[in-house]
Amino acid sequence: MTLIVQKYGGTSVGSPERIDAVAEKIGKFRDDGDDVVVVVSAMSGETNRLTSLAQEITEQPIPREMDVLLSTGEQVTIALLCMALKKRGYAARSFTGGQVRILTDNSHTKARIKEIDSSLMRAELDQGNIVVVAGFQGADDNGNITTLGRGGSDTTAVALAAALDADECQIYTDVKGVYTTDPRVVEDAKLLKSITFEEMLELASLGAKVLQLRSVEFAGKYKVPLRVLSTFEESEGTLITLEEETDMEDPAIAGIAFERDEAKLTVAGVPDIPGIAYKVIGPVSEAGIEVDVIVQNAAADGSNDITFTVKRAESDKAKEILDTIANDLKAKEVTLDRRVCKVSLVGVGMRSHAGIASKMFKALADENINIEIITTSEIKISVVIEEKYLELAVRALHSVFELADSPTGNEA
Ligand code: ADP
Ligand code: ASP
Ligand code: MG
Repeated sequence: MTLIVQKYGGTSVGSPERIDAVAEKIGKFRDDGDDVVVVVSAMSGETNRLTSLAQEITEQPIPREMDVLLSTGEQVTIALLCMALKKRGYAARSFTGGQVRILTDNSHTKARIKEIDSSLMRAELDQGNIVVVAGFQGADDNGNITTLGRGGSDTTAVALAAALDADECQIYTDVKGVYTTDPRVVEDAKLLKSITFEEMLELASLGAKVLQLRSVEFAGKYKVPLRVLSTFEESEGTLITLEEETDMEDPAIAGIAFERDEAKLTVAGVPDIPGIAYKVIGPVSEAGIEVDVIVQNAAADGSNDITFTVKRAESDKAKEILDTIANDLKAKEVTLDRRVCKVSLVGVGMRSHAGIASKMFKALADENINIEIITTSEIKISVVIEEKYLELAVRALHSVFELADSPTGNEA
């Protein structure tokens, strides 16, 4: 017998009609004799709505209470889905994350899964039930409700698939699978039949929100067969493969990811001495602000400029911290540019193809787009540019690297 874990995202369960349609889809798998564990997100817009409610009460909600609040979104969907399944004659039972013993650490709003006790789910399956689990949540050692960060239902699904040793984990969403870039930005983005874990990890970490980064990490670590596919249309979707399994020749570039809401901070004119980067970045990280791209330029006069990017929502807080230590650092000035974004090219083929970077820079130059920061690793190149050029840059790169109609035939 086959055991499948399926996850349906917010748009897929965005209305009672859609929940009904999802129930019908799940029912077909059951009719085929599969055991099914279903993970659902909150109805679309709900997590944002709850977040704004909290913001109306206080600018800095207590993380523990935020988790109690946010976890309610998913609780609504599990109940409605079970009702829809029962209406169709299927035995189904709903559970919160804590109830199926998804044990996490206690870092509220960004908790990590430590352990899952699958015995309860197995007992439910053995009794013939479809098990419906609230995504994005768990409980810590003391039973406090925790949530796993935005997009966390993907991670719930993959973690359950790993714990249950499922035959496949299927992530159903509002597009047909993983594309060469966000199909909402590039209309002729190509649907990929498969993509390696390594590339998917990079794309997810560089902003492609189709899968939460941690879900890909889990799938790689526990070798969970993972597929992304459409809730609304029949198709094979995209299989995330272990690299060894791909025998086709990899195209140089798998895809383009981007991150919109970035901000760039520069601490200018600090002395070029050991420890200065730590003095600048240390206090920002200690305040829990995630620092992304960092560059340091030493000038001939022995002074130094340190520039780095953070999420735009955290940039004012980062600027405040830098302002308070500017004197101490002997900095000339601290500046904040809130209008930047990051665009990244990703592909394992970069290892063997030379000239990708220069081709990328030329494509951007041809569009008159100024590159503010460049960072590279073995399989990716990222540039920080003005946000108003994001779409233009992504489309230009997609076209220059011929991602829409590559002759190598990795299209679905
Ligand atoms: P869900 O609510 O189902 O979890 P998300 O909105 O979190 O869905 O993720 C799906 C969205 O990810 C798509 O609608 C698409 O706009 C976006 N996306 C970004 N990059 C990609 C990509 N490379 N391939 C597919 N979708 C992408
Ligand atoms: N509902 C949560 C969110 O909107 C989790 C998820 O959908 O994966 O981020
Ligand atoms: Mg998502």
